[in-house]
Amino acid sequence: MNILNPADGTLIRELAEDDAQAVAAKYARARAARSQWASRPLDDRLAVIRKFKEQVESRKDALARTLTQETGKPITQSRNELNALAGRIDFFLDKTQAALAPESVLEDAPGKLAERITHEPLGVVANISAWNYPYFAGSNVFVPALLAGNAVLYKPSEFATLTGLAIGEMLHAAGVPADVFSVLIGSGDTGKLLVDQPVDGVFFTGSFATGARIAAACTPRMLKLQLELGGKDPTYVCEDADVKTAAESLADGAMYNAGQSCCSVERLYVHEQIHERFVAAFVATVKGFKRGDPMDETTYLGPLARAPQLAALERQVADAIAKGAALLTGGRRVAQQGNWFEATVLSGVNHSMELMREESFGPMIGIQKVAGDEEALRLMNDTAYGLTAGVYTPDEARARRILAQIRSGSVYWNCCDRVSPRLPWSGVGHSGVGVTLSTYGIQAMTRPKAWHLRGV
Ligand code: NDP
Repeated sequence: MNILNPADGTLIRELAEDDAQAVAAKYARARAARSQWASRPLDDRLAVIRKFKEQVESRKDALARTLTQETGKPITQSRNELNALAGRIDFFLDKTQAALAPESVLEDAPGKLAERITHEPLGVVANISAWNYPYFAGSNVFVPALLAGNAVLYKPSEFATLTGLAIGEMLHAAGVPADVFSVLIGSGDTGKLLVDQPVDGVFFTGSFATGARIAAACTPRMLKLQLELGGKDPTYVCEDADVKTAAESLADGAMYNAGQSCCSVERLYVHEQIHERFVAAFVATVKGFKRGDPMDETTYLGPLARAPQLAALERQVADAIAKGAALLTGGRRVAQQGNWFEATVLSGVNHSMELMREESFGPMIGIQKVAGDEEALRLMNDTAYGLTAGVYTPDEARARRILAQIRSGSVYWNCCDRVSPRLPWSGVGHSGVGVTLSTYGIQAMTRPKAWHLRGV
């Protein structure tokens, strides 16, 4: 497998993929190793994850460079991801003990009926991850999974393989036995081979299309399945919002990491009273974003991680323009080596256009004018996805009224494109099933066992 630098197409490294035999062997070793790991006291496993955090801290600069080299994420944004990872790990370190503590739900007099709940590890879990935030999307699963006593077979995206290998090295150096956390090298075919193993759980982060294929493969096997998929995340800007603040915040929410975030802002609905001013401020902000070498400290927009996405973006632009949209800036590939696309803003869009229906997953957004709250609400909910949605207005009651009617896993008031470890991360519809983060996301790595106890 060739690891290419998306900024210039150069070869970074060649690696051998795990074939069917290698995947089966890693699975068998994980199965054999998992019960000893589960039988260790939770305090031991917490100490190991604490050391993993220290490993990340001590290697942060090198890890950020690797991430930037293989995904094209600007170096400052790679560092941001690694800095924020520490906070996520701290959340799991603080909350796992309480989240997994046995619960006594009925305690009668001695010798009478008692009822308890314990949280048992699932066993061996497959963690198939995306490249866009490999530290976030990966650690949301493998940190609580390991803390709960599972063995993990981790398949990073082929576009974040070197980062996946570094994660494995650091976990092993921290004290996770080699067979309790294995990294599988390869493309989607390796992911498929992994899903075909008799694992106890599959935790997938990626696109709806791949998620649907994995769901079909897993359904007859009755295993634990969680799918964290894409989004077509809308935000509504009300007429009473501060136009400049909203435009700057939302331009960042749409273009950060070149728009390659599951929760990046993908659709904008702007009240007709401020539409013109908002569009001008938004386009001015986008034009101010510096595109360039992702290793440069001043770069905001890097290349796309995956070359095929360039054609998908071109298709969405052509379809929107053919149906009457106005191209305000960008709209084309950048003529240079690597996977470069201009930051693109279109207005005069509507829901007949692919741009407003299908995930763009790039530096591109459509802005649609709306007459008021009811129209905005109807359009925001007019999607197969349901990951995040937001409203910008100083009026809290109005925001709460609108957000209460939104069908999505997360909602934002005057903010966007953010994930908190303290809150559950989940999707509705094509955005997936299951939950990571929060105490629900810790318990998701276990199955509850019901104890009916009658003393004699
Ligand atoms: P893909 O669906 O293309 O790939 C995701 C992972 O699945 C990769 O590791 C991929 O391997 C692997 N894979 C591909 N085919 C199969 C298969 N048949 N069986 C098993 N595994 C397979 O998504 P991307 O990596 O392009 O990620 C982008 C998507 O992820 C976007 O839709 C984004 O919104 C979503 N996402 C969702 C998040 C959330 O929390 N909801 C967070 C981050 C991203 P390989 O890459 O090697 O082909």
